[in-house]
Formats: sequence, C-alpha cells, structure tokens
Amino acid sequence: MEENKNNPRPNGKRRFSFYWIYVILTVVLFALYFSGQNEISQEEIDLGQVIEMLKSGEVSKIELVNKETADIYVGDEKEARYSYRIGSLERFEETVEKVQEENGIEHPVYITNVQRKNWGLDFLLTWILPFVFIIVLWIVFMRGMGRGGMGGGGQIFNIGKSKAQLFDKDNVPVNVTFKDVAGLEEAKVEIMEIVDFLKNPNKYTRLGGKIPKGVLLVGPPGTGKTLLAKSVAGEANVPFFSISGSDFVEMFVGVGASRVRDLFNNAKQKSPCIIFIDEIDAIGRARGKNPINGGNDERESTLNQLLTEMDGFGTNSGVIVLAATNRADILDKALMRAGRFDRQIYVELPDLNGRKEIFEVHMRNLKLGDDVSREFLAKQTPGFSGADIANVCNEAALMAARKGKDVIGKQDFMDAIDRIIGGLEKKNKIITADEKKVIAFHEAGHATTSWLLQYAHPLVKVTIVPRGKSLGAAWYLPEERQITTKEQLYHEMIATMGGRAAEQVVFGQISTGALSDLEKVTKQAFAMVTYYGLDEEIGNLSYYDSTGQQDYALTKPYSEKTAETIDKEVKKLVEKAYQEALDILSNHRDGLTQLAQKLIDKEVIFSDDLEAIFGKRPWDTAKEENESNQENHEG
Ligand code: ADP
Ligand code: MG
Ligand code: ZN
Repeated sequence: MEENKNNPRPNGKRRFSFYWIYVILTVVLFALYFSGQNEISQEEIDLGQVIEMLKSGEVSKIELVNKETADIYVGDEKEARYSYRIGSLERFEETVEKVQEENGIEHPVYITNVQRKNWGLDFLLTWILPFVFIIVLWIVFMRGMGRGGMGGGGQIFNIGKSKAQLFDKDNVPVNVTFKDVAGLEEAKVEIMEIVDFLKNPNKYTRLGGKIPKGVLLVGPPGTGKTLLAKSVAGEANVPFFSISGSDFVEMFVGVGASRVRDLFNNAKQKSPCIIFIDEIDAIGRARGKNPINGGNDERESTLNQLLTEMDGFGTNSGVIVLAATNRADILDKALMRAGRFDRQIYVELPDLNGRKEIFEVHMRNLKLGDDVSREFLAKQTPGFSGADIANVCNEAALMAARKGKDVIGKQDFMDAIDRIIGGLEKKNKIITADEKKVIAFHEAGHATTSWLLQYAHPLVKVTIVPRGKSLGAAWYLPEERQITTKEQLYHEMIATMGGRAAEQVVFGQISTGALSDLEKVTKQAFAMVTYYGLDEEIGNLSYYDSTGQQDYALTKPYSEKTAETIDKEVKKLVEKAYQEALDILSNHRDGLTQLAQKLIDKEVIFSDDLEAIFGKRPWDTAKEENESNQENHEG
C-alpha cells in the first residue's frame, strides 16, 4: 500500500502513449541534427582570414546568404568551404573591393546576393515543433489526470475515478501478516472480529444485530496503524481497497466527491470487502471551522460525499470501511457518529512488553551479538514508537557495519538509541574548560536532585558529550504510569530545576543553558494549574478542551482576574520548585561536587556512580516491587 507506486494492474494503453513521446523526441532530435549538418562542416572564419584569402587570389566566389553570412568558395570547389558572419553589409562590400583593388587581383570576385532557406530547420521550427509541444503537453496532462485509474477507457475520463489500489486473491499485496505486527493484541482481536463479520455475516445478523460500517484506527504516528491495516489485507482473504486520504484531493472541484462515489461503487461490486483509507484527516477535517479563509469547498464536498456513501450503503451490504489517523481530534464529529466510524480502535505507544516484541520483530533479520538483550533495550526506550524502534534496529546495524563488525552488539544499539534521542555526538564541538565545568555541574544538579527525590524518575545515565543542539543530557527511566500524582509532578519539576539551581549554588550565577528546562517546567506548571486542577487557588477546574471546538487562541474561557491568578500560581509553583532544588543542592554540595568532577573526568556516568556517592535510594526496593507489579498488570 505504499501509495500506488507499483500499480499491479498492467495498463498497456497508458504505457503505449507514453512511449510515443520518446519516439517523437527522437525524430525531432535527428531532424535537427541533419538539418544542421551542412553548417557544421563549414569553417567559420573572421575578417582577417577573409582578407588574407582575397589577397592570395584563391577565392573564386562570395555568396551573401540572407544578408547575414558570406559563403566563401575556394578554387573550383562546388561547396563553400568557409563562411563569415557579416557585421555591416556595406563595410564588408567596401573591404572586399578595396583589398582586391589594392592587391591588383586579375579576376576580382563580386559579391552575389542569394536568398537561401534552410528548409529543414525552418520547417521544423514553424510547423513541427509547435505540434510536438502541444502533443507532449497533452500527453503529460492526461497522464497526470488518469494516474492509477481503475477502469479502462480514455484517460481524460479517469479523473473522477478512485485511485484506490485493489488487493484480492489474484493480486496479493506485500506480504505483511499479523506476525509482523508486534504487540497491539487488542487491536488485532478487534480487527479480526471485523473480518469475521464480513466472512460470516449470518452468525451476527441472525439475532438482528447490525454489522458495523466503519472502523477508525487512532493513535500517535509510527505506532503501526498503516502496518496493521496492511496485515489485514494479508490476513483477511477478502478484497481490500487501499487509498490514502490525500488521493481524493485534486485541484478540480468535484473530483474528490466523484472519486469517493466511484470507490464505493467498485467496493459494492466486490463485496464482501474492506476499504482502507489511510490518513483520513486529509479529507475528514472538521468542516467550516476556519473562519479566516472560509473553509475549503472541495474538501468539504468530498467529506460530504463520504458521509453520504457511508449512510447510503445498506447495513449488511458487506463493505467495511477501515480508516487510520493520528489526528482524531480534528476529525469532523459527523464522521464518528453512530452508523459511520462508530468503532474506534486505539493504537497506543507500546509499553515495555510491546517494545520488547517490536524489537523481536525487527531483529529477526539482524545478525546479533550475544550481549544483546531485548528486555534491556525495551527498558532503555520508554516513549519510543514502533517506527522509532525499527529505526533504532536499522541504525544499530549501520553503526556496526561502519565499524566493520561481524555482529551487532549491545553498544551499537545503545549508540543508536542515543543518536535517535539526541542527534549525533559532536565530539569535536569546541567547549572551553570553563564551559565544561558549568555543564558538568548543571547536569550533576539534575542527577543529584532526581536521585534524592522519592518520586522523580530514577536516572540511567548522564553525559556532558554535546549532541545535537544540547550541551549535555541526562537519561531517566520513566515509569510507565497512567495517572500521575501532584507529588510526582512536583518532584519532576524540582529535578528539572536542579540544573539551574546547581549553577546558582556553585557559581553564584546562572546561565542560558537552562532554556529547555525552563520551557519544560513552565509548561508543566501551567498544565498542573489550568488542566489538571492541581492548584489550590484555581481549584478543581480544567480549562482543557478535548473537543477542539473552541478556539482558545482567540478567546480565553476564563476572566481576566482568573488569568492573573493563573499567572501568579504558575510562577509560585515554579519558584517553589526552584527553592527546593536550591535547598537540596546546598545540603548535598559535597556529593554534587564529586559527581560533577566525575563527569568532567569521565564525560559519562551511570546510576552506579550515583549510588557510590549518595548511597542506594531507600525507596527503590519498594518501587521495584511496584514496577514488577505494574508490568504484570500490563502484560
Ligand atoms: P503509522 O501508525 O504512523 O501508520 P506505520 O504503520 O507506518 O505507522 O509504522 C511505521 C513502521 O514502524 C512500520 O513500517 C514498522 O516497521 C514499524 N512499526 C510500527 N509499529 C510496529 C509494531 N507494532 N510492530 C512492528 N513494527 C512496527
Ligand atoms: Mg500511517
Ligand atoms: Zn538542564
């Protein structure tokens, strides 16, 4: 389903007309070449050479062609061997006469005027080229419009045809099956149920039930929605129409709607079957919400047609529409209404187990070293999507290859993960010793505070090797939690402020290095106050709008007075976290200094180093139990 790249429907007609372009172009080029032949064999000379020749008396004839060039004949040759491009006609004539007179040439040559048409070139330019041009334009235009047409017929009539690709038993898609989709067990079950609806409709309609018409796959990018749909095509054994939302969109009004109509007509003929519309947000965006440019009529009529079609086909007609999007929030509410895409399957970012399985899938074809543990890697990649993990595996293979290894080792994977998180290491970025010290203390500040706070994320690794845009980085191991308490958020904020606090405690001055920390902490505090209702002043109110209906960029849902309170509370929260970070670091200044020193020496430190300095985290044992509980829960 990589959009129609290799359209498996052989379409001899289209190919034929395309080759005509090459034929015509070749003919034109040959014609040009041969018409230019006699000019090419002539040698162009300048006035000095003409005069030399006249003096020697070898010139037998000068022919002025079209008052532009003088063909100069030598001896009794039939063809002019030289030609001279004339500047001013009169001066040339004068010169010729004068030179011959002065040198007393016996039989002076006179200039004869001829009109000569270069038939080949002229004919070509005035008659053939315009036609060729028009024909080529026409062919290109037709090709553009008729691309991927489903039916035969003339190409211009294909513009309103759907561009969907059809996979059925004669035409098997790229072999993706459920085996290639790791995790997503619930989604697979739901999808298989839908396939079952199609294959055994009686089982469900026997009791008067209705088979759903539309299923929407929703989830962040890279979580495997398209992959899942592809695998359905491979598993379902029913015809499968695949199209992307943007394929409906064309610059001509009415084309989208007509393509939708055509798609559903084709599907009904093949029923039972599945229609898959990828990235449906391209057409399914909420209608008429943008007051500035007055909306997009073409897109809206396409969407209207889709809605009509989904209402139109009978409930048990054996067509199910599968759609995927990562922007469910901007979809038109009418799409999700009962009777259309009333089923939604959520495809979430993978959890620990899911990541392990995804690693497994993508490691199938890799040559791995003995030290590679999927579990370990899954733990190192919280928040990664399936696509990120696929990328890590590939990147690791490339890194190992670059080093000339025979197998891919653990370190290659770690480097790949680091690279994907933060961009390439820039070992040669110039950093002065002073700067290095500041960075080391900043990162040590994060590490120390997070180590000493019960609810902050435990640290995995800290480095001061600059990579990408950042000068240093700390890796944490976030627990995967579904709800977060106020305390946990607060501790995270303290740890985030730990970098700047360390600079203040140690150097008595702060730097711009904390920009992204401040951004993060400000957003966090703002969300706590205005979204999660975690602030006492504001109370249990949330100004979050999950429907996306209101445009808060223009109007705020609260009064000016509340706005002031929010500002005040956000500031208070961040300030409090900063003070706390300052307190912690002043109380553990020794540890902080040791840690920073270690960082300066080794550039990279791990949780072992922190443990050596601060001792074990007292609450970690309890937490480990907790974590394993949680994992079991997830699995
Ligand atoms: P999207 O959800 O944005 O449509 P894709 O389905 O295109 O994401 O996923 C992109 C790539 O990421 C896939 O081709 C696959 O290599 C990898 N991937 C994503 N999710 C999974 C998964 N659950 N199992 C295996 N590979 C996955
Ligand atoms: Mg996709
Ligand atoms: Zn920082």
